[in-house]
Amino acid sequence: MPDQLTAAELRALDRQHVWHPYGPMPGRQEPLVVSSASGVRLRLAEPVEGQTELVDGMSSWWSAVHGYNHPVLNDAVTGQLGRMSHVMFGGLTHEPAVRLAARLVEITPPGLEHVFLSDSGSVSVEVAVKMCLQYWRSVGRSGKTRLMTWRGGYHGDTWQPMAVCDPEGGMHELWQGVLNRQVFADVPPSGFDAEPDPAYVAHLRELLAAHAHEVAAFIVEPVVQGAGGMRFHSPGYLRVLRELCDEFEVLLVLDEIATGFGRTGALFAADHAGITPDVLCVGKAMTGGYLSMAATLCTSRVADGISRGDVPVLAHGPTFMGNPLAASVALASIDLLLAQDWPGEVKRIGAGLREGLAGAAELPGVKDVRVLGAIGVVQLDHEVDMAAATRAAVREGVWLRPFRDLVYTMPPYVSTDEDVARICRGVTAAAREG
Ligand code: PMP
Repeated sequence: MPDQLTAAELRALDRQHVWHPYGPMPGRQEPLVVSSASGVRLRLAEPVEGQTELVDGMSSWWSAVHGYNHPVLNDAVTGQLGRMSHVMFGGLTHEPAVRLAARLVEITPPGLEHVFLSDSGSVSVEVAVKMCLQYWRSVGRSGKTRLMTWRGGYHGDTWQPMAVCDPEGGMHELWQGVLNRQVFADVPPSGFDAEPDPAYVAHLRELLAAHAHEVAAFIVEPVVQGAGGMRFHSPGYLRVLRELCDEFEVLLVLDEIATGFGRTGALFAADHAGITPDVLCVGKAMTGGYLSMAATLCTSRVADGISRGDVPVLAHGPTFMGNPLAASVALASIDLLLAQDWPGEVKRIGAGLREGLAGAAELPGVKDVRVLGAIGVVQLDHEVDMAAATRAAVREGVWLRPFRDLVYTMPPYVSTDEDVARICRGVTAAAREG
């Protein structure tokens, strides 16, 4: 293979050999070839629709909140690289992982004291489920092995997370009947500002009353259901869930992999409700999108419960657990976030999205336009034509990845007002042509 490959050669090899997310093999859609990225801009290896640079409206799937090639994050990685890129975590420890764990305990809701570091969001959910099942087993309730959730959720692509994704219309529908059968409540009623609906609360109570004896944990994405449909619900439901889970002796797991680190306007979505879950998953923006790392936090009650069992250890230990490079950049990313007026930046972006997307509501085929924190969503009344919508956004100089009936954006927090306005033009064009 030659040292230098043209963009066309890269695309041809990609098509032949490389599997892409949720894609067929060989691929049917031509991926754009990115040669570098800086700030909020992706630089393309060849012009596409007349554009050589795209403003990233996706933050690389919610993760790159500080943008690309950030000097502080670069320094964190290169500084750590000179010391050690990795050592195993079994029997060894190191400053980046210890500091990161302590920082996570400090900034997440009070009462979460113990941290399990893993490689990805999906694995952090696997660990959360294992913690909950093992907790009940250790305290003598080994019949509690099922999970409860509400419909419309998404928790990742490995086996346990797939079983609590919405079984209908979601991307894991194919595996119904093969996955463990979990207990599903209806989709929570929409609207961040709406008061909890008493009929829905009664529905949750009824299901919990019927299944609590066999259910280890209730797992939800708090406030924003992301890849399951980009829906927003009232934080009031989290308070309801906290109370009901306590009453019926079920652990509460919050999956903040998408919502964590400011995206919804609170540092963690649980903060909107002022509650502490028994177990919390974070990932994505934790490393500023630089490296793959996630964390599962739990309370002392959960950790102590596990320790009291006949098998007092949590049997999980990924090879790259606590990776020093990822932990260093995560620490730097969290400190960078907390050192700035992040609530002000998220609010500013939200205001820009509200203004810039208002016109989209008038387009034929648009069912709803909604904004929360730094998340903007245009919902269509039909399945989006992904190729046409992507092309329309690219023509406006914007990178988006629409899915199902949704064209949406979560801009990096460093996006200027002009960047946000451009992203909104991209979203609107995608909604019009998709
Ligand atoms: N939970 C939620 C809420 C997510 O949005 C995602 C990723 N989209 C995951 C879990 C899975 O994370 P990962 O892709 O890092 O495995």
